[in-house]
Amino acid sequence: MSTFQSINPYNQETIAEYAAHTGADIEQRLTSGHQAYRHLAQTSLQERCDWMLELVRLLKTNVDHHAAIITREMGKTLKEAKAEVLKCATSAEYYVNNIAGMLQPRIIASDAQQSYVSYEPKGIILAIMPWNFPYWQVFRFAIPNLLAGNTGLLKHASNVSGCALAIEDLFRQAGFPAGAFQALLVSSGHIEPVIADSRVQGVTLTGSTAAGMSVGALAGKYIKKSVLELGGSDPFIVLKDANLEEAAKVAVRARMQNAGQSCIAAKRWIVEGSVAGDFTDKVSQLLRQMKQGDPFDPATDMGPMARPDLAGELATQLQQTISQGAQLAVGGQQEAANFAPTLLTGVKKGMTAFDEETFGPLAVIIKAQHAEHAIELANQTPFGLGASLWTTDLDKAENLARLIDSGNVFVNAMVHSDARLPFGGVKLSGYGRELSLEGTHEFLNVKTVYIA
Ligand code: NAP
Repeated sequence: MSTFQSINPYNQETIAEYAAHTGADIEQRLTSGHQAYRHLAQTSLQERCDWMLELVRLLKTNVDHHAAIITREMGKTLKEAKAEVLKCATSAEYYVNNIAGMLQPRIIASDAQQSYVSYEPKGIILAIMPWNFPYWQVFRFAIPNLLAGNTGLLKHASNVSGCALAIEDLFRQAGFPAGAFQALLVSSGHIEPVIADSRVQGVTLTGSTAAGMSVGALAGKYIKKSVLELGGSDPFIVLKDANLEEAAKVAVRARMQNAGQSCIAAKRWIVEGSVAGDFTDKVSQLLRQMKQGDPFDPATDMGPMARPDLAGELATQLQQTISQGAQLAVGGQQEAANFAPTLLTGVKKGMTAFDEETFGPLAVIIKAQHAEHAIELANQTPFGLGASLWTTDLDKAENLARLIDSGNVFVNAMVHSDARLPFGGVKLSGYGRELSLEGTHEFLNVKTVYIA
């Protein structure tokens, strides 16, 4: 690909066209990223924190500007985009206040006079990121890594080059050395030599399982540490003793936010049979009230999907599931990138919407006979990212949470990422963690120092 086009998904207007980086451009960025890594090694944590605080200030002061870039390129509502930009800012503040403790050497008694683990940066980390949270996915990797002294090279999704360049600019404006954070405008076909380069010391990918398989294989081939944050088909389990009113409200938000394009969206609503009718009535009413339209209009609840082809793929999954026996209860209309909030009932294992990830505003209700059956259904997926479990019996919740195969279980709450808590999946949802102590250490050299 020699150019990347950014197209507004709401009206299909071309926003901008960006020339792809050439081999010489890539080499220049690798050199610059490596020099910046050497430069960061000479800086104190305090200096890096000061730059990060300036970045926080820039994000907060220019939130409307950055939110508009996101909304224009991938279609989420402006209010969702503003919340995303602010989340980047508050998370950066959290790391400024807490990273010193996470990087503190760990003293371990042994037969040495002194022995400890020192957490040290390794070099350039390549980040391959998706378009769905085009700022947050990048910042959740970049904040702890740049504070720890690594540098970042971002290969963003091809439809959000404007976001990639705006983020690069933010790091530069905040005072980070040239090359500390750079965007690489290349297509996925050009990524192997970058992963192979000795200056690149790790690769983190957030995206589909197919992309994860390809990038994970390349990371293995060149012995590079990798973190894979992949797809999901997460269960939202509603037991008969749940607060149904609250569960219904949160289920709709957890499935429909970002036009359903979230890895941890509640993609399968698994509901105990005796309350399934009531739950269906409540969510149907909420879904019918949702206003879809111009993402810049403050009255809009849901914008378009990010691209018409993605909406077309979801329409195919919807039609397949209906032809397999599910009933269409709400919505179902699709035109270009616009896909109406949709609900299917009577969904079972073996149907497309149960077996595959659905990445858009399609909710499905799956009936369970009892709590244990609900957990069995929850685990009948190749994915395992974030499950939500609804019950007023918290002892039962903790026991059931242990039985769910996933990287996160949220009880009586919507699954979300939080700067303070580790985030990641199991099974085909990937490996490794982002955020918190575990995520901060992923791309550091855990160096043992032994002084006899
Ligand atoms: P995608 O098609 O896999 O793309 C994600 C990124 O990977 C893009 O930058 C893409 O570049 C790149 N890519 C794709 N194939 C590649 C390959 N073979 N080699 C190297 N790079 C490759 O995913 P998407 O459609 O943008 O995002 C949706 C998926 O991401 C969903 O499955 C969702 O669940 C998952 N996701 C997971 C998380 C998480 O934290 N676990 C968070 C958000 C999204 P191009 O655009 O140039 O193809």
